[in-house]
Amino acid sequence: MGQCKCTGCEKDITRDVIYRNGRCPVLNNVVYDIQDEASRCKNGEIGLVECDSCGLVFNVDFNVSDFDYDDNYESSREYSGVYNAYIDEVVGQLSSFIDKTWQILEIGCGQGEFLKKLCEKTGAKGKGYDNAYKGNSPGTGGVDIAKEYFAPENEKQCFDAVILRHVLEHLGEPVSFLRRLTKSPAIKQGTLLIAEVPDLEWIMENGAYIDITYEHCNYFTKASLATMLADLGFGIENVRNVYGGQYILLSAYYGRTGKDYEAGKGHLGRRQYDSARIDSARVRDISFVRDSGKLSVWGASGKGVVFLNNLPDEILKNIEYVIDINPNKQEKYLPRVAKKIFSPDVLRGCVKKKILVMNGVYKSEIIRKLSEIGANADVIAWGELR
Ligand SMILES: [Zn+2]
Repeated sequence: MGQCKCTGCEKDITRDVIYRNGRCPVLNNVVYDIQDEASRCKNGEIGLVECDSCGLVFNVDFNVSDFDYDDNYESSREYSGVYNAYIDEVVGQLSSFIDKTWQILEIGCGQGEFLKKLCEKTGAKGKGYDNAYKGNSPGTGGVDIAKEYFAPENEKQCFDAVILRHVLEHLGEPVSFLRRLTKSPAIKQGTLLIAEVPDLEWIMENGAYIDITYEHCNYFTKASLATMLADLGFGIENVRNVYGGQYILLSAYYGRTGKDYEAGKGHLGRRQYDSARIDSARVRDISFVRDSGKLSVWGASGKGVVFLNNLPDEILKNIEYVIDINPNKQEKYLPRVAKKIFSPDVLRGCVKKKILVMNGVYKSEIIRKLSEIGANADVIAWGELR
């Protein structure tokens, strides 16, 4: 057992591993041109511990030197109307308190879809950083994107708002990164911080082991996220669930008093991690695929990769097609299981296919797509499995 340091509150805690998984590609969102390369991709080890003090769950076996987010990292979801509608909704809500004179920093901005929409809507200027950025910047529509990792020490500009969407769960030392950020010129008194991360409580309620990945070394609850930021001097303005409950969206102002959330109180006095739910979902999924005969899986990003890697090899043979609407993934191979990714067109005119949708928020969009291509299929979402 021994001791380790919590990456959230930095207290020494017992190194009591509550979840272990060794079948984990280091990167879920990298696809491979060659099947053999996919099966030999770098593998990581997950050993989750839960902090008694702040409630953060994190991977003690995480090694930041394991990977690099570069051009091969393909996490874009702009091909989904449902996802775009979600982004528009968040942009709409945030825009009411962003002024056109503002300078906005987005760290880990991907291809800049969110930042561009936010700046278009508000008239603010944006600066983004992402080492996996593929486009050409500077300069369209007041948004400038640098293809590099953001280093707080190197930033000279001061910002009115800083956005961290799906960043904090990827950082080996989130609190030390945020401390460097607050000490850098990028943040001043009153800078608005917007953070979005997956919600551990949703993962537990749903037994969603498919959301426990090597890339995500931290698993926050609303309380643990708010506590971490409050301890760093942010006043929590609002923290709530979005995206069908799967994500936490938090806003806070640096150096101000918080408004509507009793942050800073640590975790809620009970452990979040529920091994019975997680373990029974893993076993149930193996039985489901075994008993399904031929089954196709729709969704070739994080959830699909973990789901498929959970299946023993002899049961993996039941998976007929892995489908994804992202053209950058099609005809390539998924990490570790090395299954080929197909366009939905492979199902055109099919009869009586059985399809498992990895993320239920896309189910109705997928059913519409199947109808368009004349595919006759039974569609079930992962969250509907019992
Ligand atoms: Zn802690």
